[in-house]
Amino acid sequence: MTDFTTITACGECCVGCSKKINGECPGCIEADGRVPEWAQSGMCMIHACCKEHNARFCGLCSEFPCDKLPQMISWNPEIINHLSTLRDEYIISNLSDKYEVRRLSEEDIPKVFSLCKMNTLYYQYCPPFVSEQSIRDDMGALPPGKTAADKYYVGFFEEDRLVAVMDLIIAFPDNTTAFIGFFMTDVAVQNKGMGSNIITELCDAMSRLGMKEIRLCWVEGNPQAEHFWHKNGYKETGATTETETYTAIVARKELI
Ligand code: SF4
Ligand code: SF4
Repeated sequence: MTDFTTITACGECCVGCSKKINGECPGCIEADGRVPEWAQSGMCMIHACCKEHNARFCGLCSEFPCDKLPQMISWNPEIINHLSTLRDEYIISNLSDKYEVRRLSEEDIPKVFSLCKMNTLYYQYCPPFVSEQSIRDDMGALPPGKTAADKYYVGFFEEDRLVAVMDLIIAFPDNTTAFIGFFMTDVAVQNKGMGSNIITELCDAMSRLGMKEIRLCWVEGNPQAEHFWHKNGYKETGATTETETYTAIVARKELI
């Protein structure tokens, strides 16, 4: 697992660099970007830009991937891919200290189905009833203007057992909002505080990422969903979304 305290603004790592070991360069994190390599311009502009954007590295910047990146980091033609991979690892590894979290894929669908199909109350208010195909569709579904890079359809595992599923969209509907499209826990562990723990950890992770609020919807009339989200500090915005079969209540929570 990457130690992100050693990752520079451009996504490199100075640990082990011979110049640093020989004392020729202090390392850009330690020297706040003022390294011999960029002495002419005073400091590294990538480091300065990340500071200005309050981002640990470019992959976590609200403007990533910005137009100037390929030119600023011209020595690495794969820079966008490299930073995207780091961004993914950073976001997912920060989602929970208590559970193992990873992106879910096609092979996980049977496990997700087993978890979802036991939550009959949810589908009573939010039909149709879950199927492996509806999970597959949800895994690929994106809101307008978003790409797969912004979507985290993740599972929370406890000793290899899937205990919760979340569909999270970063920076939607605006750059400082994270959107929970779906969140469900295993019925066997409900009412034990696990769902609330995951949501609390999510708030901390999103706050560290520079998000200012979390938004989500629940289906009007679903008492369990309404109770859960109210308990966790989410309040109705007053907006609703209509579908053919239900009305979704839009709610939000401001992050500190
Ligand atoms: S380019 Fe800038 S951010 Fe990247 S390692 Fe060099 S000094 Fe650090
Ligand atoms: S992604 Fe672009 S705007 Fe953001 S810190 Fe990096 S160089 Fe600056």
